Amino acid sequence: MLPGIRADAVVGAVVGGVPVYVTATEPHYDGDCARPGTHDCAATAVQVWDAATGEPVRTVDDAGGRHLVVTVVDGRTVAVTCDWSDTPKLIDLESGVVLGGLAGHEDLVQGLATVELQYGPAVVSVAWDQTIRVVHLTTGEARVFDAGERLDSVAVVVVGGRAVAAVAGKVAGLWDLELGVRIGSLPATAKVRKIATWPDGGALVGLLSWQDDVEVWDVLERGLICRMTGHRMSQDIVSFPPLHGHPR
Ligand SMILES: [Zn+2]
Repeated sequence: MLPGIRADAVVGAVVGGVPVYVTATEPHYDGDCARPGTHDCAATAVQVWDAATGEPVRTVDDAGGRHLVVTVVDGRTVAVTCDWSDTPKLIDLESGVVLGGLAGHEDLVQGLATVELQYGPAVVSVAWDQTIRVVHLTTGEARVFDAGERLDSVAVVVVGGRAVAAVAGKVAGLWDLELGVRIGSLPATAKVRKIATWPDGGALVGLLSWQDDVEVWDVLERGLICRMTGHRMSQDIVSFPPLHGHPR
């Protein structure tokens, strides 16, 4: 069990051969904090926790944020995190070293995802500058797709062997990440603010709307799987446990 820490994002990973949880925090205003005094409201950090014991493994200061993804590059586990900024940071979790910034966006980054492409692992980022950026982590090559609208979130699924990004704009747009072209959209009932995938979720994505409704869509069939309304969801968190035997 993790200790009672404050985190804006958490993901599972393996670091040094050990299953861990990686957390990221970004500063917030202590006057608005529900639990002031229990933590440092100004802290910006990425932390690695032993998943079995909850013991802290590593703290990386001066890097954090509400956006956090983890992938493996050349056998080393790395994290990419972004706070209220246009430049996500790349961190080697094996050493705790901040490797640098993934510069290029011209407005606030609103979502990160990882994907395995033909040339290896890449990070996908979307921002209010209306672009989708794909940065190949082994080569550093960056590709930029102009979405033509502000984007609020991104998630990636693999459909028929192709990596497809679902991005939250006026509608939930679908982009082929190898070709860099828009291939359609998901006709969600309301404007989407957050998109999530989950382990073993296949081609399913969860869409959290600005009205706090959650819809699960199948990107392959472009079909609505289920819809949950009337929830009072947290403002900026949507998380999905592994989903087994989803209704079809
Ligand atoms: Zn606080």
